[in-house]
Amino acid sequence: MAAGNRKAQLEKEKAKQDIEAKKLAEQKKKEELAELFKPIQVAQKIPFGTDPKTVLCQYFKAGSCDKGTKCKFSHDLNIERKTAKKDLYTDTRDDLQADTMDKWDQSKLEEVVLSKQGNPRTTTDIVCKHFLEAIENQKYGWFWECPNGGMECKYRHALPPGFVLKSQKKKDDDKEEISIEDFLETERHKLGTNLTPVNLETFSAWKKTRQVKQEADEAAKRKALESRW
Ligand SMILES: [Zn+2]
Ligand SMILES: [Zn+2]
Repeated sequence: MAAGNRKAQLEKEKAKQDIEAKKLAEQKKKEELAELFKPIQVAQKIPFGTDPKTVLCQYFKAGSCDKGTKCKFSHDLNIERKTAKKDLYTDTRDDLQADTMDKWDQSKLEEVVLSKQGNPRTTTDIVCKHFLEAIENQKYGWFWECPNGGMECKYRHALPPGFVLKSQKKKDDDKEEISIEDFLETERHKLGTNLTPVNLETFSAWKKTRQVKQEADEAAKRKALESRW
């Protein structure tokens, strides 16, 4: 009885081992087949007109690319970030193109002129007439190029000292000038009725203070402009 049991158990174990071996063999065969019929790397699909070198190789990204250095796609894991940066540059360019001079005030114009750094060949203080013309006609802009040879133009592409943008000038002129008489009249009203009337002496003193202040303002403005050249 006991011996019979043992035999049965041995047989059972052997059957189990056979199954295991069979399983292993099958697995091995499968792997060999897989190796044999391993699909060739399918070319990655990209939008028409896209430079593949700006696209990260999907195989490389996944771990391995058969093509190595011959791969037409990029094996630079940072390429997507770099390409994104380039798009950002394009966007900026579009923004700048839309940022036309008619939307600028004087300080913006000065900023743009300075950012373009004029033309390095300049040997004279004479300001380029094309440059002035472009500004006068609001044709100047981020991408303005001098018709007189662009950067080769030998005249200055810089705002002359004390330059006032036409539109700015117009705005200033539009401001209603209050005559001194009107001003005094208004001030007198503010003070009420109980006041010393303005005589020549007080008027002159007031006018002098005003003039000194105006001159100081002008000088400061000039200095600010000059220090930028
Ligand atoms: Zn690749
Ligand atoms: Zn020029």
